[in-house]
Parts: sequence; C-alpha cells; structure tokens
Amino acid sequence: MKNIVIIGGGIAGVETACMLAQNGNRVTIIERDSKLFGKLNNWYCLFPDFKKSEELIEFYQNRLEKFDIEIKLNSAVDKAERDGEGWFIYTGNVRYAADAVVIATGYELFDASRKEELGYKIYDNVITQGDLEQRFKDKNFLTAQGKTPEKIAVVHCVGSRDEKCHNLYCSKVCCVTGVKQAIELSKFLPETQILCFYMDLRMYDKFFEELYRKAQEHYNIQFIRGRVSEVSENSDGRLSIKTEDTLSGRPMKMKLDMIVLLAGMETKKNTTEIAKKFGVEQEESGFLKSKDFHIGAGILSEKGIFAAGTCISPMSIKETIENARSTAQQVNEYLNTL
Ligand code: SF4
Repeated sequence: MKNIVIIGGGIAGVETACMLAQNGNRVTIIERDSKLFGKLNNWYCLFPDFKKSEELIEFYQNRLEKFDIEIKLNSAVDKAERDGEGWFIYTGNVRYAADAVVIATGYELFDASRKEELGYKIYDNVITQGDLEQRFKDKNFLTAQGKTPEKIAVVHCVGSRDEKCHNLYCSKVCCVTGVKQAIELSKFLPETQILCFYMDLRMYDKFFEELYRKAQEHYNIQFIRGRVSEVSENSDGRLSIKTEDTLSGRPMKMKLDMIVLLAGMETKKNTTEIAKKFGVEQEESGFLKSKDFHIGAGILSEKGIFAAGTCISPMSIKETIENARSTAQQVNEYLNTL
C-alpha cells in the first residue's frame, strides 16, 4: 500500500483522493480551512445547468464516505523533506511519509480593489461575482440605499487579460459565470435591466453558447462590447460609468444602480509557498508549471509531485473533476514504477 498526501481539500483534492483511495492507496488530505470543498461552499448555483452547489457537495460527501481517507482540517504544510524516492511532510506535530504528493491548492479571485478606477470597496454598490453568489443565497438584491436596482451592469475581464495587473491570461470561466449570473438576476428581478460589458465572449464549452443566446432572447439581457474605464458615485448613491461601445465606436456614459465585477482567477498565495517547499516550478502567472501541456498537465517538474485543479490553470468545476481524475491516473502510473 502506497502513501499519498494531497494538499488542499477543494473539489480537485477530494476527487483525486477518492480516485487514489479506490486504487488501494492510503490517502491523507491536508486542508488549511475548517471545512472541505473550498469556494464551492460560497457558490449558489453552477453554470450551465443552474445545478445547486450544495447538491455537488452532497455528492462528494457521500463519495468520501465510501473510502477510508484521513482528512486533516485547519492544517498547513509546515515543512517538506525529501526521503529517498518519497517525502516527509510535517503539519503541526505530525509527520507523514508520502510516496507521492498532489498539490491541489486551488485559486482565489483577483482582488478587484486593485482596479481602483472600478470602485470596488470604495462604492458600496460595486460588488464582485463572489459577493453576488452570497446575495443569491441570501436573496438580497437591494442597493446600499435599500432600493431594488433598476439597472445592473456586469463587467467582464476584471484583472484578467490586463497588462497593468500582470495577468495576461484569460480566466476562462468568468464569461459564462457572467451570463449565468445575469440570467439568475433577471429571474429574481424581472423588472431590472441587465447589461454585460465584455471584450470578447468566450463561450467555449457545450451549452455555453446556448446559454448566451437564451440570455438575450428569453431574458432580454443586453451585451455591449466595450471595456468600462471608470466608475464614479453620484450624490444619490447611483453609479456612473464611462465606457465605449467598440462595435459602434461611440463613447458611452451611463447611470446604474449596481455593478458586478467579474474578477479573474489567480493562484492562491500559499501556492508559491508550497511550490518552494517541494521545489516545483511556477509559470510567470503563478500557476504551477506542468511537465507537458498536452500529455502531462498534472505532472510537475519535481519527481513524485503532482498537481490537480485550478492551481494549474483556470478551469470550470467540470474540468477540475476531469483534471483530478487524470492526475490520479498519472499518480497511479508513477506509483507502479516504484
Ligand atoms: S473568460 Fe471572459 S471575462 Fe473572463 S477573462 Fe476571459 S474573456 Fe474575460
């Protein structure tokens, strides 16, 4: 029986753990937080089918019950040491021996207050998609002034594809998240006008394009090609934006009641810390560097160290699960060589 330590108990970590335990390995998950499933706990429902996040959590809780996986919550990796082919991993006063390690530290949302001109954490009616998910859960859509918003803008590409923020990559899932959230807003607030400001719409997966069409045809959501350059607040608490409709070439000014910023995905701060402890390389963007883009996404630069999920690159939950399964397969192949 081989020992595997998985760092991170989000969906990627849990799925990898289940796959590896199923193959008869002894698996330990080390999670910093007080509960598993990471950001999924904060999400109300998922694209493209509006499945409730809690259903997926319940599925994984049941899945975990089938295996004897050790789960160490509120724990961080303090130290990692090479031991021949394997590793010793220290957390608190416990030492784990591992034949292989899987890093599944996940992502965090870009801190939208870094884009000062968009007013996040300056104006109360500017929120992010993460804040909006909590509002869906609470069924609370009132503005800071206690009014039902008449007009809401969803702003794409906040902190992604942006040289100034040093994030040149596309975060891949925020376009479809924006479309999903616009539809949800429209369901909760049928009288409210909803507009999406985008640079390009990246509807890459099955059903995404359909969702986009539905947003326009069934929910009357307006899509405007243009980057919002500035947000300001009026004396009544309403917001004004400056942008340009890049299809017609016309500058635009508009008054709104609420703005939802689609913040991009970045690696978690502790990913760099973990990468250093295990001597694995990171891309310039901070994501972990795979050995091969095509055939070895989960294999890292150090022998016996693997990665799963959004610490490799932005991906959807569906892709995270697929990626975790593929990484588990790569770990198994590696363990067979020992
Ligand atoms: S997925 Fe869309 S919103 Fe997100 S970074 Fe890419 S183009 Fe921008």
